[in-house]
Amino acid sequence: MDKVVSLCKRRGFVFQSSEIYGGLGSCWDYGPLGIELKNNLQNFWWREMTQLHDNIVGIDAAILMHPRVWEASGHVEGFVDPLVDCRQCKARFKAQDLIGQWRAKKKLDTLADAEIPEGSEGDVAALRAIRWGDAVCPTCGTRGMLTSPRLFNLMFKTFMGPVEEAASVVYLRPETAQGIYVNYLNIMNTARLKIPFGIAQIGKAFRNEITPGNFIFRTREFEQMEMQFLVHPDDGDPWLEKWRDERFEFYMKLGIRKEKLRLHQHTPKELAHYAKAAYDIEYEFPFGWQELEGIHNRTDFDLRRHAEYSGKDLTYFVEETRERFVPYIIETSAGLNRTLLVVLLDAYAEDTQEGELRTVLRLNPKIAPVKVGVFSLVKRDNLPEVADRIAQDLRPVCSVFVDHQGSIGRRYRRMDEIGTPWGITVDYQTLEDQTVTLRDRDSLEQIRVNTMQLPQIMRERLAE
Ligand code: ATP
Repeated sequence: MDKVVSLCKRRGFVFQSSEIYGGLGSCWDYGPLGIELKNNLQNFWWREMTQLHDNIVGIDAAILMHPRVWEASGHVEGFVDPLVDCRQCKARFKAQDLIGQWRAKKKLDTLADAEIPEGSEGDVAALRAIRWGDAVCPTCGTRGMLTSPRLFNLMFKTFMGPVEEAASVVYLRPETAQGIYVNYLNIMNTARLKIPFGIAQIGKAFRNEITPGNFIFRTREFEQMEMQFLVHPDDGDPWLEKWRDERFEFYMKLGIRKEKLRLHQHTPKELAHYAKAAYDIEYEFPFGWQELEGIHNRTDFDLRRHAEYSGKDLTYFVEETRERFVPYIIETSAGLNRTLLVVLLDAYAEDTQEGELRTVLRLNPKIAPVKVGVFSLVKRDNLPEVADRIAQDLRPVCSVFVDHQGSIGRRYRRMDEIGTPWGITVDYQTLEDQTVTLRDRDSLEQIRVNTMQLPQIMRERLAE
């Protein structure tokens, strides 16, 4: 993990936000290579989830929505974490993290004879029943200074318009999904869709996470790639399984190692308030198995609630059978930043080439920020000019990086480190027969090809 974080900073993938002011907790900026990788990743997802299906369309909804949306969705009331404070040392903990720590250390006796029921972590009433006042603070070791859990809403609040009053409170959306639900009839009617169909969206979401961390894994501002698939209520279960399998397959197409991926089915206690059944796709991060994407059968919960709160009819009507129903929603919800972290962690490798240690990102060429490096063997005798012309011809096809400085080995290694799949070197032979060497990042194979063929070769390799 440390190596990837340092590579991200050194090579311009990810910087800490507001670094010259000491940084802002859990906020990150994407540099020149980071934004290329992020764009490629989201385009890869978008193509897989919209273009390759005949019944999935896209939307880009506003981040700010009517505040009633978040009452209907249950977020105002339910999107809360119970927090415990130590009155002695002022440390603050998520109640469930404390229980987790105590369980892991088998220190339940710190709670005297208090009972912690299995599965109480998500249940506020059960958490409150625990005798926190008898427990020991893990930070300062004082007994009897922990408060009982208080609820903390994870939504960021702000004010719309110049007056700061309750009536003008709006929230930064904590998930992109609601923008799809409230627009479903607009989209269905304008795009002339019939159930089953899907709506895809990529966009920012904000959560005032209490324990952000692990670099870009958990942040307060992040991007989601979500697809909401609307089905007949009877068809919820089979569609959930279909999307679970298709989404798992997606990460293998992306080039993630299969043995680092697994599915986790939610137990009844883990299910979110809106879900009937759910799976997580998990990745084995350096800090353990963690969720990368959630796939949920959200039932008709959201649409029913929006119908109730807005007073609008959100039912779906089948002309032929005269049947009327509220569609069920199968949701696939992935984190773009989290996927980017997975892609980097999974691609990172070190090997020895010609007795030298090499760092290489074995990125899928489709998402690599730079596709090809173009080099002149030496910086004289017209070689740089020839290399520049080759680069110019390749630019309409893919992203190119040109470098005329330093030893050729060093230049290759700089490209390997950012995951550039191919390198082209112009040498003296090029001046005689118009051929260049084309080097492969992974096999290290070098072949000679005619410069005229390069755009076509690149096009073919990137289409594979
Ligand atoms: P967790 O339990 O880890 O907080 P969640 O189950 O609430 O996550 P979802 O609401 O299902 O997460 O969000 C879907 C996806 O969005 C997650 O799988 C993850 O990839 C991404 N995501 C959620 N919260 C964050 C965050 N704070 N930072 C980065 N990505 C996030």
